[in-house]
Amino acid sequence: AGVRTVTVLGATGSIGDSTMDLLRGAPGRYRVEALTANSNVEGLAKLAREFDARFVAIADIARFGELKDALAGSGIECGVGESAIIEAASRPADWLMAAVSGAAGLKPALAAVDRGTTIALANKECLVCAGDFFMQRAAKAGACILPADSEHNALFQALSSGNRDELTRVIITASGGPFRTWAAADIEKATLAQALKHPNWSMGQKITIDSASMMNKGLEVIEAACLFALTPDEIDVLVHPQSIVHGMVEFSDRSVVAQLGTPDMRTPIAHCLGWPERIAGPAAKLDLAKIGQLTFEAPDFARFPALRLAYDALRTGNGATTVYNAANEIAVAAFIAEKIRFGAIARLVEATMNGWVRAGNLAPLASADDALAVDHNARNMAASLLPQIAA
Ligand code: NDP
Ligand code: MG
Repeated sequence: AGVRTVTVLGATGSIGDSTMDLLRGAPGRYRVEALTANSNVEGLAKLAREFDARFVAIADIARFGELKDALAGSGIECGVGESAIIEAASRPADWLMAAVSGAAGLKPALAAVDRGTTIALANKECLVCAGDFFMQRAAKAGACILPADSEHNALFQALSSGNRDELTRVIITASGGPFRTWAAADIEKATLAQALKHPNWSMGQKITIDSASMMNKGLEVIEAACLFALTPDEIDVLVHPQSIVHGMVEFSDRSVVAQLGTPDMRTPIAHCLGWPERIAGPAAKLDLAKIGQLTFEAPDFARFPALRLAYDALRTGNGATTVYNAANEIAVAAFIAEKIRFGAIARLVEATMNGWVRAGNLAPLASADDALAVDHNARNMAASLLPQIAA
């Protein structure tokens, strides 16, 4: 018992915001050790003062002066650059939220892993980038990884009703995103504004675009494989437009155990924060009578090739999932910058994965540096393929 110390990496983001909201709702229960952001000085300083954090770090070197000014007189320590984000992750805390977006979150998350602490993992790209190596390192350090992603949190909860060796299959649901019912030709030329209109969840920009392409579900298939040591054949995706059932686990007797909840990230984050106990989540209760019906459909791999490519990457192994993620990060940035069409996102990912294999670059990942080198080189390859994909 007593006060638990917590650190939030990516405190100014969408997941960060939900996490801070839960901490706000449990005064006296938690003490904030460290908070981090990329460049949002104002948001970070405001949170640091509100929660009386011990340490804050900002990645963007150009904003350090502003951050120091914003914290003047508060007695809060601050740092700048990637090393400061890693320092924030390394400082003793009982619980850490890893909610940086993208592969940039890998090194900080590993710094927390090496402390052997309890980590709520939202940053799926870092897991996809590092592959099995991340979980091996966590096991070695005795770190407890709690999945914060709603589908994986659902699997984690459902898994507790049986033994791991009696598990036959997991099913993660997908809302289908804004283009679920669109024809392929319309998806091809979808605009940024259309891609950012997610039907159910309110999230950061990058993951919202990933949801529209179903790349997010692809990343989650790989995430599930890493977190629970599953083969691609043991992971199914089911389109469920209402986003109420988040994940299901099937056992050998064909019992299927599901976790349900309103589409609100505060529920899985509260599960991670309270674990192994339960704490209060959002105020709104799930009202199934009002929702009336829950529907399910098979995913369409032809209109959403990003999902198919995730299974390919998982079967290929040897860094292919790292390439899948890296190429997507380049593709999404190019789409936001209006350099490529929406449909070209998956094409760039596929071209990069094929180019990678053809170049004979596949090799097992044994360290964070291996994973980050593949990430770096795959980004370069994706960037070099960009002009021909854009044409
Ligand atoms: P946001 O874009 O809203 O927030 C990202 C956070 O990370 C911000 O605090 C941002 O700082 C910080 N950040 C971004 N880049 C860097 C960097 N290079 N170095 C250090 N800090 C950085 O993302 P989300 O909150 O939506 O997502 C975070 C992670 O959680 C992602 O991996 C996503 O896939 C995952 N996730 C999100 C869900 C959601 O509902 N949003 C659901 C499930 C998983 P700043 O504000 O200064 O830019
Ligand atoms: Mg999810």
